[in-house]
Amino acid sequence: MNAFCKNIPDKTFEKLNHNGEFTRLAVSPGIINKHYTPAQFQTIAKVVGETGAIKYSASYSILVSIPTVDVAATTKELQDAGLYVATKQGPIVAMKACDFCDGDKMEAAPITQQLYHSLEGIAVPTRLRLNVNGCASACYNPVYDDIGLVYQKDSFDVYLGAVPMGANAQAGTLFAKRVAVDRIESFLHEIISLYNEHARPNEPFYKFYRRTNSADYWKM
Ligand code: SF4
Repeated sequence: MNAFCKNIPDKTFEKLNHNGEFTRLAVSPGIINKHYTPAQFQTIAKVVGETGAIKYSASYSILVSIPTVDVAATTKELQDAGLYVATKQGPIVAMKACDFCDGDKMEAAPITQQLYHSLEGIAVPTRLRLNVNGCASACYNPVYDDIGLVYQKDSFDVYLGAVPMGANAQAGTLFAKRVAVDRIESFLHEIISLYNEHARPNEPFYKFYRRTNSADYWKM
């Protein structure tokens, strides 16, 4: 049984990618949707073929390593299969969301989509993860992301300052309670602008927030 004893894959991205011949794409069914169809899995298997590699990640996506020369065509093939390909990498705002109870609790889905179009991809000093959860159960752990949003009846509680990983990982703290749905987009833009304006080069968001949170400009 391979659950524990065989964890030495033949084809990691690092092993494949000696000279930039391979590119890694993060693929998922969507920002909210977490269900793949069999046809989508077949498409993933087809584009990876015998040469590439497939790995699941901690960020609700599957990582596929594919030949760099095929990136444009492969991205299109995956998108044509209805898959979401995170095409923007690096130090940007990257959005995550819960699955909204597999579509049963979609009250916050429209504003989540609006936030995605407004915020995803904004350049920041260090990659900033924004996690939207659709109710107070907060079961996709938004308080452990840089900015955690927990929806509750036409408003969001906003958590900041989490140390997302490492031995000193820590949940964020409640920064603002009940920010109205029609205010949340500009509210988040203000936070991201503060980060861009006042952070040190490459300073992670939690360090920036913990270093500056007594400054007047946080009185929003
Ligand atoms: S956070 Fe709430 S809405 Fe989202 S999946 Fe969990 S229970 Fe459902």
